[in-house]
Amino acid sequence: MKHLDEYRDADTARRLAAAIGREVSPARGYRLMEFCGGHTHAIFRYGLEDLLPKNVEMVHGPGCPVCVLPTGRLDMAIRLANRDGVILASYGDMLRVPGSRGQSLLKAKADGADIRMVYSTIDALKLAEANPDREVIFFAVGFETTTPPTALAIEAAAARRLSNFSVFCNHVLTPSAIAAILEAPAVRELDAVDIDGFLGPAHVSVVIGSRPYEFFAEEYRKPVAISGFEPIDILQSILMLVRQLNDGRAEVENQYIRAVTRDGNARAKAVVSRVFELRRDFEWRGLGHIPYSALRLKDEFAAFDAERRFGESYVPAPETKSCECPAILRGARKPTDCRLFGRACTPETPLGSCMVSSEGACAAYYTYGRMRDTAQDTAREMVS
Ligand code: SF4
Repeated sequence: MKHLDEYRDADTARRLAAAIGREVSPARGYRLMEFCGGHTHAIFRYGLEDLLPKNVEMVHGPGCPVCVLPTGRLDMAIRLANRDGVILASYGDMLRVPGSRGQSLLKAKADGADIRMVYSTIDALKLAEANPDREVIFFAVGFETTTPPTALAIEAAAARRLSNFSVFCNHVLTPSAIAAILEAPAVRELDAVDIDGFLGPAHVSVVIGSRPYEFFAEEYRKPVAISGFEPIDILQSILMLVRQLNDGRAEVENQYIRAVTRDGNARAKAVVSRVFELRRDFEWRGLGHIPYSALRLKDEFAAFDAERRFGESYVPAPETKSCECPAILRGARKPTDCRLFGRACTPETPLGSCMVSSEGACAAYYTYGRMRDTAQDTAREMVS
């Protein structure tokens, strides 16, 4: 397949769905976690769940960088933005995520903080160059896909001796999150995440390759199919997982061969390892504290580390009351299990990060009309 249309071809989708229907065993269930929020949105955008047999269940994972950032980290960003002389450069999604006490970056901006929306690290660097008398802090979030551009920006700032640029680093690691889902005590206690296999992320895997997932296949006996984002990619990957499970295999298969290799992008990995090192501990929304699951700047780049430069440290904060984002992010609940979904919480009035982010599961359900449970509940409430 060479052209985008072919990855969205309805006949091919129907053939793949029929193959999945033929090959699933009625005697068992298939609980497959799509790690990445991009996959969640594609699944709902193209109605793929409707094509799957009832015993194939897609479980939504924590692969949404905006969603997994806990309230305490957002509070840190707001505190940094409120400092005198600071310009905080942030991606748009972060602006509306609720922090503590009803705060958000958008509200801080309305109250006078200088917060600018940027589309890339280059925008943030340009902002620093254009404002030499101000401190420009780039609010860096994301998995392995967005880490290399942040590392390049820090190297560029060092090379240009840009002394008014720093990074508030919140880059997190995919394999650590998968391991946490499989073995975190909090997850086990909930006894709700019984995952048979993983749809591996596409863009992240372009950078890190397929090799890091081999551990999960070997150690936890969980098959992985790294999948592209188009509907045909996803259905083909689901079929690969169904076949592995039927055969009793637990391997890493790469459906997204047009972009992912076993070892990933060597140059991207090299720049990341020049600039960053593992953090000992990082708190994730929904998954709790995970050791060595995030990155911080190496000592030689400490001058560009906003946390060290401004002496800002992490203070845990409670999550929004009644918001089910934490359970949704570890695959234990669905958005429609949240009583606020589609009522108090909508994309216009988001109460949790999963409704704000363009990769969030709640936003996917809402945007693509997966509100049947809620609608039925409302109807039941009306007639009872
Ligand atoms: S619907 Fe809103 S309040 Fe409920 S889990 Fe999703 S983001 Fe949180």
